[in-house]
Amino acid sequence: MKRNQPLRRKTALKAKKPLERKTPLRATGNLDRSAPLPKQSKKRQQENRDRHAMKNAMFPDSRPPCIVPWCGLLADDLHEPLTRARGGSITEPDNAVPTCRGHNDELTNEPAWGYELHLLVHAWDRRTYAEMAEDRRIALARWYAEHLEEAS
Ligand SMILES: [Zn+2]
Repeated sequence: MKRNQPLRRKTALKAKKPLERKTPLRATGNLDRSAPLPKQSKKRQQENRDRHAMKNAMFPDSRPPCIVPWCGLLADDLHEPLTRARGGSITEPDNAVPTCRGHNDELTNEPAWGYELHLLVHAWDRRTYAEMAEDRRIALARWYAEHLEEAS
């Protein structure tokens, strides 16, 4: 075919019957959407209530110190070592540690010390929350033993 020749149909277009619905459209329920969408699902609302109750049960009287042993500030946040993004529970006490705002932010950047102290847990970690909490307690105790023996 010559390149400058326009493309042409070999068969003519046929007139077809227009498509018809076999069943007519029916008016269904009320489509009024005047109520705003909820900011959180019922499930998430309940989860947050449970988390609040857990926090109050864990720290009934006052703000605990930040769990990072070299910090010394009071905690602002509860941090999940197995993060919510990694499938971690936000209502499991063994997956909640108090942190100051600065260390909570710092842990977001996944520092090595976070994993060493079990304040961060990989998504593929198969330990139970209780096992993680126990390993964290041991790692923190070891840190204190190594760093504070000369102080006492
Ligand atoms: Zn801190």
